[in-house]
Amino acid sequence: MSSNAQATIPHFIRSIIDADLASGKHRSIVTRFPPEPNGYLHVGHAKSICLNFGLALDFHGQCNLRFDDTNPEKESEEYARSIQEDVQWLGFQWQGEVRWASDYFEQLYAYAVELIRQGKAYVDDLTADEMREYRGTLTQPGRNSPYRERAVTENLDLFQRMRAGEFADGAKVLRVKIDMASGNINMRDPVIYRIRRAHHIRTGDAWCIYPMYDYTHCISDALEGITHSLCTLEFEDHRPLYDWVLDNITIGCHPQQIEFSRLELHYTITSKRKLLQLVTEKHVSGWDDPRMPTIQGMRRRGYSPEGIREFARRIGISKSPNVVDMSELEACIREDLEARAPRVMAVIRPLKVTITNADGAQSREAGFHPSHPEFGSRVVPFGREIWIEQDDFAEVPPEGWQRLTPGGEVRLRYSYVMRCDEVVKDSAGNAIELRCSIDHDTLGKNPVGRKVKGVIHWLSCEHALPAEIRLYDRLFTVPEPDADKERNFLEFINPDSLTAVQSWVEPAVRDAQAETRYQFERLGYFCTDRREHQPGVKLVFNRTVALKDSWTKEQP
Ligand code: ATP
Ligand code: MG
Repeated sequence: MSSNAQATIPHFIRSIIDADLASGKHRSIVTRFPPEPNGYLHVGHAKSICLNFGLALDFHGQCNLRFDDTNPEKESEEYARSIQEDVQWLGFQWQGEVRWASDYFEQLYAYAVELIRQGKAYVDDLTADEMREYRGTLTQPGRNSPYRERAVTENLDLFQRMRAGEFADGAKVLRVKIDMASGNINMRDPVIYRIRRAHHIRTGDAWCIYPMYDYTHCISDALEGITHSLCTLEFEDHRPLYDWVLDNITIGCHPQQIEFSRLELHYTITSKRKLLQLVTEKHVSGWDDPRMPTIQGMRRRGYSPEGIREFARRIGISKSPNVVDMSELEACIREDLEARAPRVMAVIRPLKVTITNADGAQSREAGFHPSHPEFGSRVVPFGREIWIEQDDFAEVPPEGWQRLTPGGEVRLRYSYVMRCDEVVKDSAGNAIELRCSIDHDTLGKNPVGRKVKGVIHWLSCEHALPAEIRLYDRLFTVPEPDADKERNFLEFINPDSLTAVQSWVEPAVRDAQAETRYQFERLGYFCTDRREHQPGVKLVFNRTVALKDSWTKEQP
């Protein structure tokens, strides 16, 4: 499926899988992507998606999509829908139906009963505060709860009554009996069930007890026959619990949990909670605001799935910190679009030019892509009045200037060589119009007797179509907006991250459907807006990425 057909980059998880297949431990692999439907997916999730689905593709195995829906209060159908859409948009398809941890609630309950029967789980009446106190600290061991030695029959009865709704929320929990003195706090009799009267998106009000993540995850993996359960490093300390649960119930499968480092992308954030805050406090227009690092945001901005997949490939998989600058993601997008986006002209900040000798001037045909003749061509209409970019003209040009200047010449892309004869100014002295003449003998050929180096883009005023062009910059002004615990990340929002400009585009893009990508020559890659662009009616373009990486150079 990978259309980039890039070589795979080896990493330690691939080596483990290679060894497991070679030794016969597994005949094929099964992975899963296990999001919680409590937010929209972001670029960090894209890394995990590309890893899990990518390995399944490369090794001819399968990858499941499983919603980890054990926290009913924060979860919603909207999130679940967007996650499925995002996975498919990235180019992946899960095996069979979407799975839900809630599909296993009955089995999870039965395994809890099995643990109680074996004397390995107990109902605890300690309050949350008491439990915290009994748990101990990193340096001090915990103490056994006074309820730890309850009889099996009493535990069975209480657990059944917890399920039946006889106790108030938080009044009791079910814990597994491991070791209150363990050096790993996760092993100090962790809670595996809590009472929570919350409406669940799938099971409604059928349950008032919900299993905890650590308990649910390993059993769900085992029930699905997952071979390699890949997760981020913060779960390393949870692995002993993952293994303990599976070792202590009757289940015929024991997946191997393997941890890798999270992606941390500079100049953005990947905390779901903070992304939600940006949305609810309206610092951005929504989860799909083109400045958001969400998959929906990147999509609306014009990032291609191929470019994002290539980024995931390049950043690699390891256990060492995966801190990556935004410019690396942008480079992948730019490289991908360079080959696939048709090229047209737009003028973002127009300066009017009157051609004083336009009589008899011809329009020329131009291909949409120099290396893809199959993209076709269009006529670029010439006219007596044209727009050029304001900053392609300088009255007092800096050293090395190759664009337009009074008395100077430039080539109009796909058209004539033009000379600036006169600058018309307003009362404040700003150039508001240029009066220029063209050399009629330069259409498709070099001027005789002189060299004209500069080439600028332009549009015929009569033919150009108005368009709103949205220019984006980084959402944050510092590389790690949420690194400083003393300061609120909102302080670092870039006030200039969005500039909307009334601009002009070539008539050739009039009927472009939503989500069509172009290179606007010399300006960057642009994509018609998924939400607001209306073909032929209202043209709205988002700048996906500039042509060159001006950003890393300009910043200190
Ligand atoms: P939370 O659990 O706090 O809501 P989360 O970011 O872990 O947030 P999940 O929905 O649990 O969200 O994530 C699904 C999968 O994506 C998990 O396997 C998780 O490890 C992985 N993942 C999340 N963030 C990143 C990241 N920045 N880099 C790589 N993988 C990530
Ligand atoms: Mg998580």
